[in-house]
Parts: sequence; structure tokens; C-alpha cells
Amino acid sequence: MAISDNVRKILEEINGRAELVAAAKTRTADEIREAVKAGVRIVGQNYVQEAEAVYQDIGREVRWHFIGHLQKNKVKKAVAIFDMIETVDSVELASVIDKRCAAIDRTIDVLIEVNSGREPQKAGVLPEDVRPLAEKLAGMRNIRLRGLMTMGPFTGDPEEARPYFSGTRKVFEEISGALPEGASMDYLSMGMSNSFRVAIEEGANLVRIGTAIFGERDYS
Ligand SMILES: *Cc1c(COP(=O)(O)O)cnc(C)c1O
Repeated sequence: MAISDNVRKILEEINGRAELVAAAKTRTADEIREAVKAGVRIVGQNYVQEAEAVYQDIGREVRWHFIGHLQKNKVKKAVAIFDMIETVDSVELASVIDKRCAAIDRTIDVLIEVNSGREPQKAGVLPEDVRPLAEKLAGMRNIRLRGLMTMGPFTGDPEEARPYFSGTRKVFEEISGALPEGASMDYLSMGMSNSFRVAIEEGANLVRIGTAIFGERDYS
């Protein structure tokens, strides 16, 4: 099916319950533009360099979310493009983001990435470490903490992702219930092509979808 048909179908299914982030790694500017014409308003990128290339073409017609692992030496370029960084998982990274934003006199929205599956090789902070990090971020002037993001273990069966989504929502609600001053919990980013339905049932209001929009990725 065409990209535009995929976007329309997905937007119809989401039906306003969540905002759609088109996860666009490896996709060309033409492919992304087709998705934008069909209604995509937020584009997600995993690599700063790749984002720069398509950003030149598409620009501020959409909002840009960083959803990959951000290296500190890429932060300066990242804060020139992205509206939100969904993957903050350390005070060190947050400090660099804060400093780079101060230098260009802007504030940036961020999410804390939660390692909900407690997977040693995965990015993100453990659920019990979210609050201490949230408190530190809340004190940074050029960062605005807006919520949480999680991937969860990937098994291929969306039902197996459910406990990790509901666990992350629990952390989200706990922090919402006693917000550090300067933070807010507006966004819960969970769910991908195969799991966004379950994620929305568990409270996601941002879903990151790649394959179901653009088709299988070709890394060759
Ligand atoms: C690629 C990617 C997605 C989308 O995955 P699909 O299975 O292609 O929908 C979502 N989130 C992150 C962080 C990604 O890197």
C-alpha cells in the first residue's frame, strides 16, 4: 500500500487518542513528504546526521522528535533541529542539552526514556531511577521535562509488551501525582507499528510508527 494510504489508515485507527510520530530512520525526504501530505505532523529521527539531511528539505513544516540514542558530541547539532528529545536517560546528557540550549537561547522539551524491561543492553533509566532524574531535570533552566518514553522488550507479540507499557504508565502517574516544580507529565510515548494499539490501551498519547507507514526497512 502507498505511504499516504498507510498514514490515513493509521490516523483513522488512532482516532485522536494519541499523536503520531512517523519514525523515519532510513527514509528519504520524498517518502517523508508523502507521509506529511497525508497528515503526519511529527517526524521521529534516530540519527542527527540523517535528520540534518531530510530537515534541509522539509524544514519546520513538521515537528521533529529525536528518538535514538543521543551522543553528547551530537547535542549541539541536535538542539538546532529537534523540538523534542524523547530519549534523555542521564544527568550528564541532560546537562549538555541544557548548556547547548542556553547557548542559543532556547528551551527544549524532553522525555525521560525508561528501561521498562530492565534489559542490561538497552538505553533508558530503571523505573525506580526516573524520579531522581526528573527532579534534576526540573532544575535545569533550558530543559522542560514533559513526560516519559519507553521501548520495552521486543518479542513480536504486542500482548507481551503490555506489562511494560502499564508499568511505565504507573511510573508516569506516580510522578504526575507529585510533580517536581518545573516539570510536567503531558506525554507518554509508547508503542510502535506492531504494538501501538496495546500501548494506547495502556495510556500512550504519543506513538512512534515506522514500518506500518513506510514499509519494511531496507538496510542494504
Ligand atoms: C524505528 C523505531 C520505531 C518504529 O518502529 P517500527 O517497528 O518500524 O514501527 C519506534 N521507536 C523507536 C525508538 C525506533 O527507533
